[in-house]
Amino acid sequence: MQLSPEQLTGQVETHLVYAGDGRALQTACWEAFGQLQQAAIADGFDLQIASAFRSFERQLEIWNSKVRGERPVHDDQGVNLDLDKLEPLEKVHAIMRFSALPGASRHHWGTDLDVFDAAVVPVDYQVQLSPAEVAPDGIFAGLHAWLDVRIAADQAFGFERPYGVDGGGVAPERWHLSYAPLARDYLSNLTVAVLVAALRDSGLELLGPVLEHLPEIHRRYVRPPSSEDT
Ligand SMILES: [Zn+2]
Repeated sequence: MQLSPEQLTGQVETHLVYAGDGRALQTACWEAFGQLQQAAIADGFDLQIASAFRSFERQLEIWNSKVRGERPVHDDQGVNLDLDKLEPLEKVHAIMRFSALPGASRHHWGTDLDVFDAAVVPVDYQVQLSPAEVAPDGIFAGLHAWLDVRIAADQAFGFERPYGVDGGGVAPERWHLSYAPLARDYLSNLTVAVLVAALRDSGLELLGPVLEHLPEIHRRYVRPPSSEDT
């Protein structure tokens, strides 16, 4: 299914199918995820979704609240940053290491989701989606080792990890899965021009520095050269 610029940037939801729990994905992605879940269950993992579709508006709210200091922004070591001490462009980079620019989140497409293993979650445990949880000694290590093998063997029903390793842009997110048969095309279609159109009148904080440096931001966080031939 081809997506319009508005679908690609999460401004409309016409490409999505909602599940009973309020989560939304595209039909083809729901089907593939169901297959992956069945394979996981057979091997003892209860593969569940922590986050699926996220709208432009929601991503904008996250972005703006981080810029305004209403939501913490941390560095690679998990230490909270004082954004007041950073130049505008430095603020953009600090935020984009861990949060997508509105319009540029892969969660807009209905092909991308964050997962965890509900089989190992204690009743009083709040899933964080943190590096510690997916580390070799983390609570979700087993699920991710299983996913590593499946993805490497091309037996993950089309899912891959776009943020599996650190390329200097978006920080590694092993919990983030993407349905490649659709998502790879969407990434090619998500051009600088599409982003400019979505952001121009959106009320985005730091709009000036973002637009001024958008080609470089796009190359580093949205579509790094390493993603182009995969
Ligand atoms: Zn994600």
